[in-house]
Order: sequence, then structure tokens, then C-alpha cells
Amino acid sequence: MAITETQLIEKLSSSIRDVPDFPKKGILFKDIMPLLASHEAFKSLIDFLAQRYRGRGIKKVLGIEARGFILAAPLALEIGAGMVPVRKKGKLPYKTISASYDLEYGQDTLQVHEDAIAKGEKVLIIDDVLATGGTASAVCSLVKQLGGEVDEIAMLIELLFLKGRNKIEDYKVFSLIKY
Ligand code: AMP
Repeated sequence: MAITETQLIEKLSSSIRDVPDFPKKGILFKDIMPLLASHEAFKSLIDFLAQRYRGRGIKKVLGIEARGFILAAPLALEIGAGMVPVRKKGKLPYKTISASYDLEYGQDTLQVHEDAIAKGEKVLIIDDVLATGGTASAVCSLVKQLGGEVDEIAMLIELLFLKGRNKIEDYKVFSLIKY
């Protein structure tokens, strides 16, 4: 029998590690490495997401550098979609389009290959953590620039106190574990 969402959340929460003051003082880093290292936990997560997204006509799963790649690749295979890496500026070899977003100090830029998404194609965006929403919002703007359609934004973890959803309020957002 498939496990329920509540059972899955319980199972996965115990394999997410809090690392205080990483990468800098004051940040409580949600470390998903123990989850990935557990075949049972990782497989339950991908099975659950595949069940949610299969049959919705999604053609591409966009993984956000770098932990988003790890979630996007097995999920894309399971739901019969292609996998598209969204990378930090200067990492992709072919012609790219870019979107910048604000950080606490300064700006960062994300890029995707210009031929990664066809016009009208349905895509799913996935990452490990939704924090302020700046990253996800930049990825949505990349999809928009290429004429794709965001079916949903999927996050393993959502940090509710940072209100990231406000930056992506035009889109459907699904998050599994909320803190
Ligand atoms: P944001 O643009 O603020 O929503 O930040 C999202 C990106 O930063 C994601 O790619 C996350 O992997 C990473 N991130 C932000 N905050 C955390 C956190 N507390 N723990 C782990 N990763 C985080």
C-alpha cells in the first residue's frame, strides 16, 4: 500500500539534519544528505513525487543547482519527462538565457540553455528548500522567457517564516515538509 503524505513527512523529517551557522552565522541549514544516503527515504520521496506529477503532461523537470539536480533527475525519469539543469552563471556550455535575483548583499544570476524548453511546454520546477523565494522566482522568469508553462513548483522543504511564496504567488507551489 502506498504511504500517506503524513507518514512520508514523518519518515523524511527524521533524515533531515539541522546544521546551525552554515554557511554563515545565523543560518540554520537544512541538510538533506542523510535523506539522500538512505535508499528507503530517497526512494519514498521520489515515488511520492512521481505519483503526484505523473500523467500531468509535464515534459521537463527543471532542477535548481545543485541539490535540485539530485531530485529532478530520478523524478524526470519516473514521470517520463526530460531533465533540465538550471545553473549558476557561466557553467552551461551552450547559448543561455539569464535571470538575476537579489541576495542579502548583491545579486546572483541563473541560466538555462536557450533550447532547453520549447514554447508551450509544461515544466515542473524542483529544489530542496524554499527560503526567500528569490531563486524559484528567477527560475520562473527563465521559463517565461522561453515560453514554457510552469505546472508547479515543488519543494522538499519550505521555511514558512521567510514567506518565499509571496515572490512566486502567480504560481502553484507544493512543499512537503514545512518549518
Ligand atoms: P531562496 O532563494 O532564498 O529561496 O533560497 C533557496 C536556495 O538556497 C535553494 O537552492 C536552497 O537550496 C538554498 N537554501 C536557502 N536557505 C537554506 C537553508 N536554510 N538550508 C538549506 N538550503 C537553503
